[in-house]
Amino acid sequence: MAGLTFHTVSHAYDGVEALHDLDLAVGDGEIVCLVGPSGCGKTTALRLAAGLEPLGSGRICIGGDCVAGGGGQLPPEMRGVGLVFQDFALFPHMTVSENVGFGLKGEHGAHRRERVATLLEQVGLAGYGSKYPHMLSGGEQQRVALARALAPKPRVLLLDEPFSGLDVRLREEVRDQTLRILREVGAAALVVTHDAEEAMYMGDRIAVLQRGRLVQVGTPSEIYRKPASAFVAKFLGEVNWLHGIVREGRADSPIGVVSASGIGEGEQVDVLVRPEGLHLCSYAGAEGRGARVVGNHLLGYSSLVTLRLDDGSELRARITGQDAPAPGADVRIRIDDEAVFVFPCHHTPGVIPPG
Ligand code: ATP
Repeated sequence: MAGLTFHTVSHAYDGVEALHDLDLAVGDGEIVCLVGPSGCGKTTALRLAAGLEPLGSGRICIGGDCVAGGGGQLPPEMRGVGLVFQDFALFPHMTVSENVGFGLKGEHGAHRRERVATLLEQVGLAGYGSKYPHMLSGGEQQRVALARALAPKPRVLLLDEPFSGLDVRLREEVRDQTLRILREVGAAALVVTHDAEEAMYMGDRIAVLQRGRLVQVGTPSEIYRKPASAFVAKFLGEVNWLHGIVREGRADSPIGVVSASGIGEGEQVDVLVRPEGLHLCSYAGAEGRGARVVGNHLLGYSSLVTLRLDDGSELRARITGQDAPAPGADVRIRIDDEAVFVFPCHHTPGVIPPG
């Protein structure tokens, strides 16, 4: 079942808490993406699991065995984890084969050569064994790093921003290859990324950290469509951030009245609307709040349309296809209820709090 489990893990550096009571399980064969803004504790969680950082408190288990906490600390090489770092961390003076073979401590001779060849084939680098890292592209280096991490057949793979060193086009290709290989080997994989779209693409589940605390875990669809807080909604994708006041279970906001069930009468609320949840109609008699188009940027498959409401506030709508209204046009806005999130407002109304 659980390949990697964090049990109420907390960790501090010089008295400053970086992780607080982290409870998270990554099942065998599962890919969990750990996301959150810079400094929220993602790498700390990974380093604790790998044994590169002595655990503060709590317990970490791999394959059911406790590897940290409860009075003991297994050294990194005995944990059965494979690591891929952001900068790949290949040994520059070793060939590709030697880099990959580095992880095969107990294997020698023909058996070792065979295993290295199999791994290189698995990552699409058959025939690259005698090259040195500086002779490889970024994508190829990433695949060598992955092959090295896979060499000892780890129970858990830990990947820290594995694609961030690659340019955008290469990143997509390497990400697909990595995803295929992770599925093939079936280990539990914890992938750290600050890129929400990457997490949604790769993760069976996504775990969102905010200032050292886990604020939501779920499938990409759950996290995107049912965010637990305004922070999660904003982290996972663009939102229009509006404000409203609750009257009889509904919030009156600049774009109209939206459901606010479960929130007390008279409470101030944040009303968050995804740009794709705003539908525009040019027909003057149509229902919905009126707005004027003040900008229109074609982004290829979709256009991003900037709208100005009567009260002067601006919104962004994402319109698919190429028939988005031109600047100056008056439109009516219809809201897709599925793309609206309402949360009690715990900060100064109108000021979007930082992550
Ligand atoms: P990023 O996305 O920028 O890599 P992160 O989410 O991985 O960030 P961590 O690297 O885990 O965040 O850092 C969490 C907090 O702990 C930060 O405030 C960071 O400054 C602090 N921190 C991390 N490593 C150390 C260290 N070795 N000594 C002291 N403080 C540290």
